[in-house]
Amino acid sequence: MTTAAIIVAAGRGTRAGGEVPKQWQMLAGRPVVAHALAAFVGLRRVLVIHPDDAARAAAVAGDALVVHGGASRAASVRAALEALAGQGVTRVLIHDGARPLVSDAVIGRVLAALERAAGAAPSVTVTDALWTGAAGLVTGTRDRSGLYRAQTPQGFRFEPILAAHRAFLGDAADDVEVARAAGLDVVMVEGEEENLKVTFPGDFARAEQALRARKEMAMDVRMGNGFDVHAFCEGEGVWLCGIKVPHGKALLGHSDADVGMHALTDAIYGAMAEGDIGQHFPPTDPQWKGAASRIFLQHAADLARLRGYTITSADVTLICERPKVGPHAVAMREALAAIMGIALGRVSVKATTSEKLGFTGREEGIAALATAVLVAL
Ligand code: MG
Repeated sequence: MTTAAIIVAAGRGTRAGGEVPKQWQMLAGRPVVAHALAAFVGLRRVLVIHPDDAARAAAVAGDALVVHGGASRAASVRAALEALAGQGVTRVLIHDGARPLVSDAVIGRVLAALERAAGAAPSVTVTDALWTGAAGLVTGTRDRSGLYRAQTPQGFRFEPILAAHRAFLGDAADDVEVARAAGLDVVMVEGEEENLKVTFPGDFARAEQALRARKEMAMDVRMGNGFDVHAFCEGEGVWLCGIKVPHGKALLGHSDADVGMHALTDAIYGAMAEGDIGQHFPPTDPQWKGAASRIFLQHAADLARLRGYTITSADVTLICERPKVGPHAVAMREALAAIMGIALGRVSVKATTSEKLGFTGREEGIAALATAVLVAL
């Protein structure tokens, strides 16, 4: 199934004010149409423009194919459809370049509805009373029942809409009109008030506010820290950040006592305000006795993923006089990176002594600090 998106930006509309057509006016730092294009990233995209806008289009098109439109909206869409013909495209979404706020949810609903119909388009019910008017006076009212406001993207199975456009004469308000003229069924799906078409100057302020709110909500950066200590006991070797390091002592603990991995696990839980290891794996529960600490780190990393977070950096500091960590640091980073499923370059393990001061200086145990950064887009 190959889905293409056609962004129609060939109009000359200047009702929004200014010399520049509305879809090329700036909104939150880039042209309106650039926002519309960005909503369809990942699909095969065609940008239909007026030839006068070629230079503007080159600046925003990216991997989108730029096609020159025709004399009417229908002719412009047809030019884009023809450019996609014979390339295995099975579905096409046709979107107004002046609707910068289309959401993934609306696009998803249109695509889902194409499973059961040749056409699908978002709509919003009319809630305001409708009047007719002339010369500033209300001249009548209209029944709003059964009336809907049409939005885009309007989605179609490719071959039927191409045939419909080839057969259509004249201009149409939108592609649903063209589809219906060819006898295609078009299913209505739920649109969104926010999916507005910037038309008047006030629409820009509204769109900009919505984009700003979306951006603020979109990126969620979390940072968490962790700290842990384990005492030395009789034994051979210590587990540190997933590596068994030869040493004349072991670390005492309910699990394998991997102090570095515990600190990092707590940092990840901390970033999500999800408590700590003890809460998720109670030491009173015998099933965790002698457990490999990778289970804990894996759980924290999986929970982060489940919540939509990517772990973008993890930094562990081990505090001890001995054993020497340096020779094992890369292996430790590799072990932690593999458990969390992130790149080696995002994981740091380093060590310091406490200058023979305190319990770590007296070699009674090892302490570890960790910081983790999680980002959800
Ligand atoms: Mg611990």
